[in-house]
Amino acid sequence: MSIESVWPLGVFASLDAGLGVRWEVIEQLHVPTIQLHAPSPPRCTRQTAAELQAQLSRMNVTLTCVFGGFHDESYADIPTVARTVGLVPRATRAERVAGMKVIADFAAWLACDAVGLHLGVVPHRKSDECEYDAVVSVTRELCDHVAEHGQRIHLETGQETADELLEFIGAVERDNLFINFDPANMILYGTGEPIEALEKVGRFVRSVHCKDATWSDQPTKTWGREVPLGEGAVGMRRYLQTLKDLGYRGPLTIEREIPEQADRQLREIGQATRLLTDLSAELWGQAG
Ligand code: MG
Repeated sequence: MSIESVWPLGVFASLDAGLGVRWEVIEQLHVPTIQLHAPSPPRCTRQTAAELQAQLSRMNVTLTCVFGGFHDESYADIPTVARTVGLVPRATRAERVAGMKVIADFAAWLACDAVGLHLGVVPHRKSDECEYDAVVSVTRELCDHVAEHGQRIHLETGQETADELLEFIGAVERDNLFINFDPANMILYGTGEPIEALEKVGRFVRSVHCKDATWSDQPTKTWGREVPLGEGAVGMRRYLQTLKDLGYRGPLTIEREIPEQADRQLREIGQATRLLTDLSAELWGQAG
């Protein structure tokens, strides 16, 4: 079996202006798969889906996961994430669950069977059982909605430790709830050594981000720093070796949160694709 079929390369892209990789960069680098940051729910129309599907088919690119996000979320600093991101903030919870369902329907029109999201900073079960149960309940509702399309939910890692994430998945009790593992987020948020975390949650990992970062000098209080792939503290060889040992077979999706400048993206994403291609060839014992 070729490496390309076991671990096809991918990039994180976006329909709206933002931090996604530009279409022409995807084409120039011949990246075969993408994860897509969904447009805001009102723009998730059948027409947008049809146009996107035509474009992906022209480019010969497979869509592997659609990520939901909301215009009023902010990643400015860790306390702001806790206040504004995902299904956790109470004031926007109902509206966002409804929005995620629209995004899941949009993904279904695109024949995509995975829907990803940042759930937000889930309160500790013991410190706020009522809110914890409420977030469990809406996640269950979302899992049941996407199950009607035969889809899975992939929770993005980083905002909680591996043990907290396992406890949460156990509490939801749905067999279509999985993980999109992002090793750099564990470092950025200071929630755990990424490889150790990956080994703990590995059985739930159905998609991954290839992203790198350096630790903050005050982990969990302030952000670490995102850096080009291979230059941070993740350790890409060990990351890929662990994924292989855990039996992960699926896309290696490069996520690089840099502005949409084509030349910089071509340079940095190009380097990342070469690094992953070389390491994969080494690990699978094939010429690259
Ligand atoms: Mg990520």
